[in-house]
Amino acid sequence: MDPFTFLDKIINESFNREPYAKKSWWATDLNSCLRGAFYRRKGLPPTSVISPDRFGIMEVGKIVEEWIVNKVKQSGNLVAEQLRVEAPEYEASGKVDLILDEGGHPVLYEIKSTNSFSFKYKMKNKEPQPQHKLQTLFYLWRLRKTGHCDLPEVNFSNIEGRIIYVSRDDLNRIIIPVNYSEEAIKTVVEQLEILNKAWKNDELPPVPEPVIYDEERGKWGINWVCNFCAYHELCAGRDWRSHAEQEVKERNGSLER
Ligand code: SF4
Repeated sequence: MDPFTFLDKIINESFNREPYAKKSWWATDLNSCLRGAFYRRKGLPPTSVISPDRFGIMEVGKIVEEWIVNKVKQSGNLVAEQLRVEAPEYEASGKVDLILDEGGHPVLYEIKSTNSFSFKYKMKNKEPQPQHKLQTLFYLWRLRKTGHCDLPEVNFSNIEGRIIYVSRDDLNRIIIPVNYSEEAIKTVVEQLEILNKAWKNDELPPVPEPVIYDEERGKWGINWVCNFCAYHELCAGRDWRSHAEQEVKERNGSLER
């Protein structure tokens, strides 16, 4: 074997994961493709390959998260990390990245790494991505409502939530608060109800648009959720990407006219 590809191969192979049936919906399913979430819970084998660079992005996310959690541990303010939070009546669960004690008050953080382009956009408009916001709201909702059996000494009834975006270029950070309200939780519940209804009736949930307008870039692009999905052939056939790319080209072409 070419000696220069040996190490590369080891790393790429480490990204391979066996598909497994999830026992519940995950908080990260919210505002993603609900059909993809359905397929993943069924444990269907992937029909298309996710490229190593996509896995690399997920891996960098884990490294960044560890880096931040270690800093907090050293500070002595850590309340919890990777804390499992559940909504059994909706068959949903997730893991909070980090909970900090800030002056006697618990604050939860979701840690997201991002490319520098997207980071600059967030610095400007100070808005979290919708899927990150829903994920954080899910945790706030459950912790405020039921507390946590592993941490009975912590009063979660007014826990606050924030998302920390970390630039993958230079570890620069921006922290964006997520405001909790009963109104905001409605979207979380609606999506979980769609998923549970689909599961109960064994019917596929709706698909998202393959092509969406990217506010950050000011142009049309392939829906990011599909970039991380391995079920394209089940949804839209083998030519899914080329069709989507053609549509992106046409829509962006008409923007320029
Ligand atoms: S290919 Fe796209 S639409 Fe189909 S399940 Fe995956 S993310 Fe959803």
